[in-house]
Amino acid sequence: MPTDDFRRYGYEIVDRLADYFERIEEFPVLAQVEPDAVKNALPSAAPELGESFDEVLSDVDSIILPAVTHWNHPNFHGLFSTSTSSVGVFAEMFAAAFDMKAMLWRTAPASTELEDVVLDWLRQMTGLPEIFEGIIYDTASVSTMHAIAAARERADPNSRSLGLGRADSPRMCVYVSEHVHSSIDKSVITLGLGLESLRKIETNERFEMIPEKLKEAIEADIAAGILPICVIPTIGTTSTTSIDPVAAVADICEKYGIWMHVDAAYSGSAAILPELQPLFNGWERADSIVMNPHKWFFTPFDLSVLYCRDLDDLKKAFSLVPEYLKTDDAAGVKNGMDYGIQLGRRFRSLKLWFVMRYFGREGLIARIREHCRLARMFAGWVEESENFELMAPVPFALVCFRALGTRSELSRNDAETQREKSDLSNNELNALNEQIMNSINASGEAYLSHTKLNGQFTLRLSVGSIHVEERHLRKVWELLNRSY
Ligand SMILES: *Cc1c(COP(=O)(O)O)cnc(C)c1O
Repeated sequence: MPTDDFRRYGYEIVDRLADYFERIEEFPVLAQVEPDAVKNALPSAAPELGESFDEVLSDVDSIILPAVTHWNHPNFHGLFSTSTSSVGVFAEMFAAAFDMKAMLWRTAPASTELEDVVLDWLRQMTGLPEIFEGIIYDTASVSTMHAIAAARERADPNSRSLGLGRADSPRMCVYVSEHVHSSIDKSVITLGLGLESLRKIETNERFEMIPEKLKEAIEADIAAGILPICVIPTIGTTSTTSIDPVAAVADICEKYGIWMHVDAAYSGSAAILPELQPLFNGWERADSIVMNPHKWFFTPFDLSVLYCRDLDDLKKAFSLVPEYLKTDDAAGVKNGMDYGIQLGRRFRSLKLWFVMRYFGREGLIARIREHCRLARMFAGWVEESENFELMAPVPFALVCFRALGTRSELSRNDAETQREKSDLSNNELNALNEQIMNSINASGEAYLSHTKLNGQFTLRLSVGSIHVEERHLRKVWELLNRSY
């Protein structure tokens, strides 16, 4: 494209994006399209001759935009509410333009060095000890897979060259709670450990791993000749943001010499709030920690950080150059390709750098603190209401709750049934809550998602958008109360 056209379209695209952010609330949160809408609107083969870029842009408006689910919408409360900042968009423009592939330091010096700098800034902000060094991957699924690979390498250094399932290789196990994220199941599949090697430890009534049960499982496995290689406590589980007792888990890992990987993919950003630091107690004793700036740090997808107590553990698992030939390392040069399965890596650190510089620590704290306040406020409405109940504690900015149905006059006055809270059976309550969620989501006004807790259909409301204000939560509360 001639430079003049590039300039003209560039201005036009920035205008379009500015309008998009300005008008974000006018869009339905969930795309209101049927499956195949996009496919059917497009030709079945690529154009033979190049087309005018105006036509391409006009198709973005007419075909792509209606099929966008607006994660940036302030009423996107499903899954985890994540959104980008404007400076994050700018960083992606630069990164795409430079198009560097960080394999060796030499192929991308800026990317390699900025990554170390911003990850050290983030380490300081989140209160982690200086020993931790980080590396950026795309998603937490990948960060955690690398952590387990490093744990496997430490437990059985021969697995790298000889593989698993040898006569002299013990079966290996990984320990998590029942509420662990499904990405860890996928990691053990990918690493050849097998799903059966994943021990899901029972949780208490607050959905936190029970350390005594963990210890029992580890001891039983050791007695059976199985090698425990990794325990993964979660700070902020995906269902409820419950917090496993990391310090107690660290004691157990120390006693048996097991790698501890902390999954703080969602919650890690909140560690920058001094008042929330106690929730992270014990994570400083981990061998590795994952946190996702693309979740709650206004950094566009994707950017996940893996912190390691000793990055050499990753290198041992993945570097393909023998240590004694590492002449570059003698000069203190880091080559990103040595720390994982990817050879070339995107220039992701740029967007985290833009975000940290534009907002500053204070600006980031203020936003995340406000999200936590809004979530607690919403949880307060739930608790005060006769028609809803809270289903889990709210340590961060996710509220788990459900509708109880309108109770009859009789049960309202009857102390016995009051304790039952609802006139409806559990199945009826599940159906009621599912129907409430579906009708709100179909309206395009807001998006909520759900989980099941002890067989009970539970609504999840996540507060995390950079655009969210108190009025957006009032709107959801009205929608919920109107759905009776
Ligand atoms: C979101 C989440 C993940 C997965 O994150 P991706 O970056 O999407 O792979 C893992 N663990 C927890 C606790 C999460 O909340």
